[in-house]
Order: sequence, then C-alpha cells, then structure tokens
Amino acid sequence: MREELTQCPACLENDISFKQSVKDYSTSNEVFDIWACGQCSHLFTNPRVREESVGPYYDNPDYISHTDDAASVFAKVYQFLREINLNWKHRHVKNYTEGKTLLDYGCGTGQFMEKMISKGYEVQGVEINEGARTKSSKFGSVYSSINEVKGEVDAITMWHVLEHVYNLDELLQSFKTKLRNNGTLIIAVPNPESHDAQHYGAHWAAWDIPIHVHHFTKKSMSAALERNGFQLQEVLPMSLDSYYISLISEQYKEGASTKRIVHWLKGVVQGTISNIKGGKDNKSSLIYVFKKS
Ligand SMILES: [Zn+2]
Repeated sequence: MREELTQCPACLENDISFKQSVKDYSTSNEVFDIWACGQCSHLFTNPRVREESVGPYYDNPDYISHTDDAASVFAKVYQFLREINLNWKHRHVKNYTEGKTLLDYGCGTGQFMEKMISKGYEVQGVEINEGARTKSSKFGSVYSSINEVKGEVDAITMWHVLEHVYNLDELLQSFKTKLRNNGTLIIAVPNPESHDAQHYGAHWAAWDIPIHVHHFTKKSMSAALERNGFQLQEVLPMSLDSYYISLISEQYKEGASTKRIVHWLKGVVQGTISNIKGGKDNKSSLIYVFKKS
C-alpha cells in the first residue's frame, strides 16, 4: 500500500515534481520514484509505502554474512572501521556538547551507546525494532518510544535514522521537550548531493528506497529543522561512509555474478575518488549539528 504526498515533507510547500526512478536492489526489486521540492530542494520517496506496511522492506539479507573467500577478511575490516567510526562519533559529540546525558534515538543494537557509556556518559536509547532493542538493552535503558525517556538530556544523536522517519514534525517537537535549553541535536544522514551519489546515479546504495523516505540536502535539512525550532551550528563530513556506500553501489551496478573481491576493490577506489573529489561539503554522508533555540 502506497501513499502519495502532495506537499514537501521538509518545508510543507506544494512546489514538488518528479525527479527520477530508483529500484530497490536490496529487498523487493520494486521501483520507486523520487520527487524534488522546488522551494527547499528536498528529495523524497513519492509515493511512499505506508508506515504500517514498510516492515517487510527492512528484511534484507545481511551484506556481511555472505560466505565466500573474502567474507571473513571483509568482516574483520568492517569491524575495524566500525571501531574507528565509533571513536570518531564520540569525539564529535564531546566537541559539541556540554554535559554528559545523552539520548541515542534509533540506537539499533547499541554499539554507540556502549562506546559512550565507556566514555562516562549517561545514555538512554530509543529503538523501534524489538530484536535490536533486546540487544541494546544490555547496555542501558532502551525504550520503544521517545515518550518513555526520563528527564531532559544534554544531547540527542541520530545516526542514519532521520531519513527513515515518516512524521518529521512530530519527532522534532518531541525532541524539543526532551532536550534541555541550548542542548545539542546531532543528525547524520546520507548526502544525495555527494560525489558518489552523482557517480552511481540510480545505483547509489544510499537511496535505500523505500525505507529511506527522505533524502536530505543541506538546504532542506535546515528548512525542516529551523521550522521546528533548531538552529544549525555546523555541517561535518563523514568520510568513511563513502567506502561502504561505494562497495554496495558496485554490487547493485555490476550484479551478483561479479566476485565480491572485485566489488570490494572497486568500492575502495571509488570511495577514495569520492572523498577527494567530493571535498569537505560533498561527502557520502554529512553530520548536522543543531542547537535547540
Ligand atoms: Zn521543500
């Protein structure tokens, strides 16, 4: 079941038009359309799968669990990079946050929670998926809804979550009640204006339709957040993501018949090119730092 939007979900204007079609390579092989807003340049999946029907589209095979010669090496490299990534996220939160109470919204299996707790933070999590919530609950209090979060926090983090959120205004308004005055909101999302998005076009893995309902540009992120009472402080590049996204995009482009090691090498090469050519502002993913105003 799909629903059609008649206004931009970021700025609420109705100056919207079709941009391109993209296939869901990871799960359903269905084709979805991406529309663009003429006012704030937001890109969004339209029509989109209704929220109550989107669950099965999340059931994609785990890229890491394939068994071939390169798999164990790949898994080790992936874990190594993930650790670098977690330390890097911690540094950014530390740099932009006063105080040590944190809510990780969409905390998944809790790796970031675990890292931040090890650095002395008091962390609560919200996770909709029950299986993931069971795992992250080992590290601290994890709830199924933001309404259950206790007290006010100094910072809220969302690592690749906001692009999945159907009702932006509802969530952002609830953040305002959970975040203390002048608190920090940190949002990481894929960047459809990145060099690797341009390079791979419809094969760009971070379109990830239909589960990504939003594809934020710098302009549309500011439009949605400022409208809801947050002020942009900084936009930071997320360089490591371009390798992972390029690797998966190679798989989509070349198909499964090409060996994984070829995808891997091409992904590394293209990820590097993307990071160099993309410069600071056009990385595969960006981190936005906002303050509650
Ligand atoms: Zn718009």
